[in-house]
Amino acid sequence: MSTSLPQELLKEIDKRRTFAIISHPDAGKTTLTEKLLLFGGAIRLAGTVKGRKANRHATSDWMEIEKQRGISVTSSVMQFDYEGHRINILDTPGHQDFSEDTYRTLTAADSAVMLIDSAKGVEAQTKKLFQVCRKRGIPIFTFINKLDREGRDPFELLEEIENLLGIRSYPMNWPIGSGKQFRGVYDREKTRLELFQGDDHEHHNISVREVSGYDDPLVKEVAGADYLYEQLQEQLALLEIAGDAFDYEKVWTGELTPVFFGSAINNFGVQTFLDNFLSLAPKPQPRSSSDGVVPPSEEKFSGYVFKIQANMNPAHRDRVAFLRIVSGKFERGMTVKHVRAGKDIKLAQPQQFLAQDRDIVDTAYPGDIIGLFDPGIFRIGDSLCQGSQRTFDELPVFSPEIFAKVSIKNALKQKQFLKGIDQLTEEGTIQVFKSIGFEDMILGVVGQLQFEVFEYRMKNEYGVDVLLQRLPFQFARWIVDEKVDPGKFRVNSQLVKDKSGNYVALFENEYALRTSTEKNPTAKFLETAP
Ligand code: GDP
Repeated sequence: MSTSLPQELLKEIDKRRTFAIISHPDAGKTTLTEKLLLFGGAIRLAGTVKGRKANRHATSDWMEIEKQRGISVTSSVMQFDYEGHRINILDTPGHQDFSEDTYRTLTAADSAVMLIDSAKGVEAQTKKLFQVCRKRGIPIFTFINKLDREGRDPFELLEEIENLLGIRSYPMNWPIGSGKQFRGVYDREKTRLELFQGDDHEHHNISVREVSGYDDPLVKEVAGADYLYEQLQEQLALLEIAGDAFDYEKVWTGELTPVFFGSAINNFGVQTFLDNFLSLAPKPQPRSSSDGVVPPSEEKFSGYVFKIQANMNPAHRDRVAFLRIVSGKFERGMTVKHVRAGKDIKLAQPQQFLAQDRDIVDTAYPGDIIGLFDPGIFRIGDSLCQGSQRTFDELPVFSPEIFAKVSIKNALKQKQFLKGIDQLTEEGTIQVFKSIGFEDMILGVVGQLQFEVFEYRMKNEYGVDVLLQRLPFQFARWIVDEKVDPGKFRVNSQLVKDKSGNYVALFENEYALRTSTEKNPTAKFLETAP
């Protein structure tokens, strides 16, 4: 018996979970991702999880720069099935590979998993990514990793999460010891023990024992040392008295994060995490658009491009546009409206779900990400729809934090140079500013890698060698004032203009920013263009 589309659609939506893992490099994101994928047996991988080993790249054809560095330049998508669910993990690259794409990818996720190293606590990049998730109000789940190593006191970690990130926390389980003394976790809801079986990286390192509560004699037996047992009693009692209550509403709005303790490399606590996550995390959520809120269950297909990856295949100058499906069913070969271009386009043969072997996707549903071959027709934020002209809310732009003066080596290439800068700015790859008077061109980005990609693309796509000269600025603020006085932006700062002619002040440090704010009481200092 064939089911009608609405039923099929609802069923597929219910199954899906689309999330991103946010963390600071080295917290164990790659390890956690690999373990998660193993539970389902990944069915589709976009690229590799991460090119930690050079040979992993031998079979993929990511852009040259990526191969040279052995890293994954841009976020990729991984999909797997587990226990009746279809799970999409959006990878967010870390560290030097950090870029505006990293932020934008978060707009395609319906929830986030925040991964924290138990010895290090909340680190810089986690904080940045967290703030983007926070702004969207999506649910955030926390996994505190590396319990098999000496780490910080769990209460201290929770306090740090609350103080630095401003989110309340609810520990779903609680560690018994850490490092050499790590015995496992006590599951607060299921009142059971999950015991750590030691360093076995391949198998489920876990044995589960039901108990009547945390004062069960078995808990004492398991803890071994008296002090560990006493510590655990105290901590759990304290949590009950002083801790937050579990509140599903607050999880849903991103005000309370369920916290899990474990060790990814030992595959300890990963499955428990996954099971809980799947039952608590939202299915694909509606998105706001020019037509109002679009529910995923709307039968007409619609979606938006949240990222464009250039030169996936160096043999061709192709790009791939990543589209998040918001509503309806995607079918290969379907015709949709490219709203900005005002054209109908057929999502035919080359449209593929990005995969290691680049297999072609025939159908996809809300929450899924599809990779569209892009001969240069897409821009970040473009919407593709069936039977409507809707556009989705603009993707956020982020305040640049790294700046460089750009010039060309060969003045004869001025025309290509300007064209390249124009197109790459348009694409959202970089932000460009001009100094006042000298008309120097200044680029602003959020991650160093964006400069490297820029340099590479200018050479490969526009045939221009550029010179980048790092500038000492760290902050950009758009100045909104009746009369802007450049004289007031001289100390460790510089006044420039953006593409639309808005005044932007660049500051070397927080002190300079503060001084200028004080000197210009009538002006507004905005982090992004007004
Ligand atoms: P990423 O940079 O966040 O992707 O981190 P990786 O997954 O590459 O992990 C960074 C390092 O931490 C690697 O050496 C991992 O083997 C190690 N690691 C990951 N999870 C654990 C864990 O649970 N315990 C310990 N001791 N090490 C871990």
